[in-house]
Amino acid sequence: MNSIKVVRARQNNLKNISLEIPKNKITVFTGVSGSGKSSLVFETIGAEAQRQINETQSSFVRNRLAQLGVPDVDKIEHLNVPVIVNQKRLGGNARSTVGTATDIYASLRLLFSRMGKPFVGYSFVFSFNHPQGMCPRCQGLGYVSDINVEALIDKTKSLNDGAILFPTFQPGGFRWLRYTNSGYFNNDKKLKDYTKKEWELLLHSEEHKPAKPSREWGKTMMYQGIIPRIQNDILRKDSTEHVKRKKELEKILITNVCPECKGSRLNKKILSNKINGKSIADCSALPIDELLSFVKSLKSSSLETVLHELEKKLQNMVTNGLQYLTLDRTTNTLSGGESQRIKMVRHLGNSLENLLYIFDEPSVGLHPKDLDNISRIIRDIANKGNTVLIVEHDPDLIRMADHIVDMGPLSGSGGGQIIYEGEFDGLRSSSGKTGEYFSRKRMINTNPRRAQEFVRIKNAKLHNLQNISIAIPKNVLTVVTGVAGSGKSTLISKVFPKQYPEVRIIDQSAVGGSIRSNLLTYLDISDQIRNMFARANKVSNRLFSNNSEGACSNCNGQGTEKIDLAFMEDIEQPCEVCMGSGFNPEVLTYTYNGKTIVDVLNLSTNEAREFFDGHDFVRKFDLLTELGMDYLKLGQRLNTFSGGERQRLKLTRELSTTHEILVLDEPSTGLHPSDTDKLMNVLQHLVEKKNTLIVIEHNLDIISQADWIIDIGPGAGKYGGQLMYEGTVEGLLQDETSETAIYLRKHLH
Ligand code: ADP
Ligand code: ADP
Ligand code: ZN
Ligand code: ZN
Repeated sequence: MNSIKVVRARQNNLKNISLEIPKNKITVFTGVSGSGKSSLVFETIGAEAQRQINETQSSFVRNRLAQLGVPDVDKIEHLNVPVIVNQKRLGGNARSTVGTATDIYASLRLLFSRMGKPFVGYSFVFSFNHPQGMCPRCQGLGYVSDINVEALIDKTKSLNDGAILFPTFQPGGFRWLRYTNSGYFNNDKKLKDYTKKEWELLLHSEEHKPAKPSREWGKTMMYQGIIPRIQNDILRKDSTEHVKRKKELEKILITNVCPECKGSRLNKKILSNKINGKSIADCSALPIDELLSFVKSLKSSSLETVLHELEKKLQNMVTNGLQYLTLDRTTNTLSGGESQRIKMVRHLGNSLENLLYIFDEPSVGLHPKDLDNISRIIRDIANKGNTVLIVEHDPDLIRMADHIVDMGPLSGSGGGQIIYEGEFDGLRSSSGKTGEYFSRKRMINTNPRRAQEFVRIKNAKLHNLQNISIAIPKNVLTVVTGVAGSGKSTLISKVFPKQYPEVRIIDQSAVGGSIRSNLLTYLDISDQIRNMFARANKVSNRLFSNNSEGACSNCNGQGTEKIDLAFMEDIEQPCEVCMGSGFNPEVLTYTYNGKTIVDVLNLSTNEAREFFDGHDFVRKFDLLTELGMDYLKLGQRLNTFSGGERQRLKLTRELSTTHEILVLDEPSTGLHPSDTDKLMNVLQHLVEKKNTLIVIEHNLDIISQADWIIDIGPGAGKYGGQLMYEGTVEGLLQDETSETAIYLRKHLH
């Protein structure tokens, strides 16, 4: 009973493996990408625990969920109730804030309804999502969309030249005729030469009948200025043009802070309710550590429990390194790491025991200093009597584990085995790539490239940046460091591109394309492969696309069917006819060199490298190998790639560029230390080709190899935003004030 026993697991690439995982301890699963960590931890252990919970549901749900399938494993004994804390971003809608997502805002509402003066109502009226609480002008959003006249009108042009930059207002368009036929304007006069009166008429005039229109003017036609016309006909959410012109509208709209509530989302009555001079909106705008001090300063004997609950929740946020956030921050502006830490806060609050916590790379986005705090929290969770499983690559988190399971030796079919199980000390002498990494000596770049030129960021003040100016060396590798929330992304991904529009940001966001896009379409070789099949079989190449003639008729090529669970979220299961391939079964009677199109799409890139040897396009597979991604399958859909994989995939398209300024935000995400070396080679190659590379990173092995370091700090939020250090790695090691220097010295030790 003191361990979870997994017997003969075979999910995906797992090779019939059995293991015991100690309870009430921290176990870290390591191994190169594609070795089988997720297959074991999420798809076998997590899925089976979840399935057993589902068994306790009503028979209706149970019957549906049963179709999801059982993980491929003989048995798992002594499982606990699972809590899976992944990096899925918190809800993307504009009404979800840090306050609502953590439930802290609900406690605050309760406090204001009891303690605030004057009394305005029960706690629900303090919600900006409630009709009685929301600002009537912006409906509780805090912002309004206005027409940006600068973007709508080109004053250097006349009406006949097309001065109004919106489809139906362009020469020939039916709305354009309203203005040119109105009799008000000389249609060849440039708008910059309009009198004040003409300008008013054109833009703002209310609806009326013009006095002397041209002969084409219809009897019942009315004249109206451009702005009210767009507001009435196109901006209204229920107008059909609103949907049709979405893209064009985005270009002429500008979102402004709501003039009525000044962004607080609440109406005047609610804002008039105050505790010690502060409204609930004032409190939500304070960084969490300051809000905590404010709450601690309040005294009320009748509200002791409310105050205590609130303090506890705020304290948990501080402990989790989120003291710099404000409750009014919308969750869709948070990073994946911040989202995960907020989820951790929710769990810290509960007092349940004997749970099985499963974390997916909690180190993402964290400076080694933040990681110290997170390690402590994870330790607390285990000490409370829970079992913790972590899939992780970060050396410091691997070191802190009670138990380590190293998977390998390689990825895909070359992996799926356990290379090492036991304490950290034994890992170093084990044969796998993880052991090898820990037994190696760490080096720093003692021969950095020197820059001849610089690009300069001047007076950066956005968010928490404290009016800093920075020179970034050209044609070298610069690494930007600093604790989470110190201002790195604001500086490099937001301010810098504003000052230098040519900067290319290679981030972890979705790669676009349709939901059917896969690795082959992204690499632009699916047409070639379809043609090879077509030629070999003397049939149309369209047969080999599940987006065209080859589509399975049952699922239209999707490969999946949705199951409607009535009161739960829909779930998807593989299509029964095509078994998930999306292809019409008839297509599978055609082969190329003994493989069907589905077989080919199931090849990993390293297998495809051999199968298609001799063809020009295999060079593209080599690029993936260089970035540690040769385990990816040709047919893998782009929407199933992790953030790190997406970013590295985008990087492959840049490998032939020169003289560009490239920005990468944490490219080491999801990479095993041995693959980080490969990434490093690719980055160095890009610099050799005369690109300027700026990388935001926490990974100390990457920091060690930089030509130039820019350290932002010292703390997070308003305690950060300053330039702490700029110079070489050797110089950084001597630095006495930077947190990054402290951890780098430890790392090299
Ligand atoms: P890791 O977590 O170590 O990066 P994974 O467990 O995600 O590795 O993957 C192990 C192997 O299993 C890889 O070859 C991967 O392509 C394969 N794999 C992962 N998910 C699936 C799936 N749903 N169907 C088939 N193969 C999969
Ligand atoms: P880092 O990249 O170093 O983790 P960020 O640049 O993301 O730090 O954040 C710096 C500060 O700016 C933090 O206090 C953060 O809360 C704030 N911030 C970041 N993005 C936004 C945003 N979209 N709206 C408001 N504040 C933001
Ligand atoms: Zn408002
Ligand atoms: Zn199908």
